Amino acid sequence: MEWDRFGQLKPTGPAAWMDTPTEAFSATCPFSPRAEDEDSIAARAFPDAPMLDDRIGRHVSAHVGAAVEAPFRERGSSGGMVSWIAAELLRRGHIDAVLHVHPGTGGAPYFGYRVARSVDDLLAGAKSRYHPVHLADVLDEVRRVPGRYAVVGIPCFIKSVHLAAARDPLLAERITHRLGLFCGHMKSARFVTSFAWQLDADPDAVHAVEYRRKDEGRPANWYTAHLTLDGGATVQKDWWHLADGDWGAGYFMNSACNWCDDVVAETADISFGDAWVEPYSSDGRGTNVIVVRTALMQRLVDEGLAQGRLDLKAVDADFIADTQAAGFRQRREGLAYRLTWARRGEQPVKRVAPDATGLTPRRRAVYRTRAAISAGSHRMADIARRVGRPGIYVRWAWAAYRLYEGLVYARGRFGPVLDRLERLLPRGRRA
Ligand SMILES: Cc1cc2nc3c(=O)[nH]c(=O)nc-3n(C[C@H](O)[C@H](O)[C@H](O)COP(=O)(O)OP(=O)(O)OC[C@H]3O[C@@H](n4cnc5c(N)ncnc54)[C@H](O)[C@@H]3O)c2cc1C
Repeated sequence: MEWDRFGQLKPTGPAAWMDTPTEAFSATCPFSPRAEDEDSIAARAFPDAPMLDDRIGRHVSAHVGAAVEAPFRERGSSGGMVSWIAAELLRRGHIDAVLHVHPGTGGAPYFGYRVARSVDDLLAGAKSRYHPVHLADVLDEVRRVPGRYAVVGIPCFIKSVHLAAARDPLLAERITHRLGLFCGHMKSARFVTSFAWQLDADPDAVHAVEYRRKDEGRPANWYTAHLTLDGGATVQKDWWHLADGDWGAGYFMNSACNWCDDVVAETADISFGDAWVEPYSSDGRGTNVIVVRTALMQRLVDEGLAQGRLDLKAVDADFIADTQAAGFRQRREGLAYRLTWARRGEQPVKRVAPDATGLTPRRRAVYRTRAAISAGSHRMADIARRVGRPGIYVRWAWAAYRLYEGLVYARGRFGPVLDRLERLLPRGRRA
């Protein structure tokens, strides 16, 4: 895996990319049309978990809450449940190590997968990193060093671990548990460059990055970007005050995410997200939603609850889906629409069928604008970086956001104009 000029990781090497795919690549790339899909993997992995809902996939239970046992919630991005479950697997001897994402020693690339063999190591790697990472080195370590491993990953990573394990008996034997993170999309490394530009810092002087600084006194969904610079100075800003800080607008989104239909890591033994519904989104301590798919994970949850080390409430699939409403719109309705853009015969193979019927012009415009913002942000940031003029990107990003917020929230400069335009349309085509 190597960095491209847009700050994204891409497979390289002989015949490694899509133009001349090898048989191995086609079978293990999670976005390959020839790879096994999530439904089929989950049916193989969790035969005892019923398929109760096609949004959250096979599962035996779902919950909302957090870890009570210190310091997991305080150290986590959300309710600390990922690190708690991983620690519990380690402490009970189910595994010897966890593959997860850890801050580096300072400076780019800021984050990477690493093998944690103790609870202290695990806690040092807690928190969400919306940053490109790859599994290649840690999978090599798994092949080299015998043991039982758990892996933490976003949906496409968990899927690719299943696909790789299906071809590699050593990985299949050693990677025994999979912990999935819900995912809206993955950002490129240029998101950090943009943080620096907008925080009046030199991108080359960024030593460490925190995407979500926790402040218990403020709502959990008020994200704060925090940079530590060489020499120790720090700068920070709320995402709301950044041109590209609205997650839904899709700045710096990897183009593969346009073709993803798994929001909740359907192939993981247990998946974790944020409870983005009230009253939880206003609780600055952070609250998880979790989806359980195996008997062992259910036992860890039940025993943690009985011992008072977890505080969880059972919820249904609708509750989980409501916490990710925007993600499901983008990956169901939006994906169906995007699939109609591809030429016949060139459409990616997804579990969602191409369909644009019933979409209002405004919804179509939202999906078109989001895709244009994603593609445009990579290019504009690249130009701004190469000519050394950050303003080129930042001004473009604000202008694009004004259009986006007008479309989505009917506010800002374009909101009233778009509202008036929509009122002029025939009744059946309105939102
Ligand atoms: C790219 C990305 C997009 C996300 N999108 C959404 C979303 O749309 N909706 C939602 O509800 N939740 C989303 N999440 C998940 C959310 O940010 C939290 O990670 C999750 O709620 C778990 O919180 P926690 O406090 O239980 O985890 P913690 O206890 O903080 O532990 C997090 C664990 O995840 C590991 N980790 C961090 N970043 C990565 C990464 N990039 N790849 C693999 N492992 C990683 C850490 O090393 C750590 O082990 C996303 C996460 C990522 C990385």
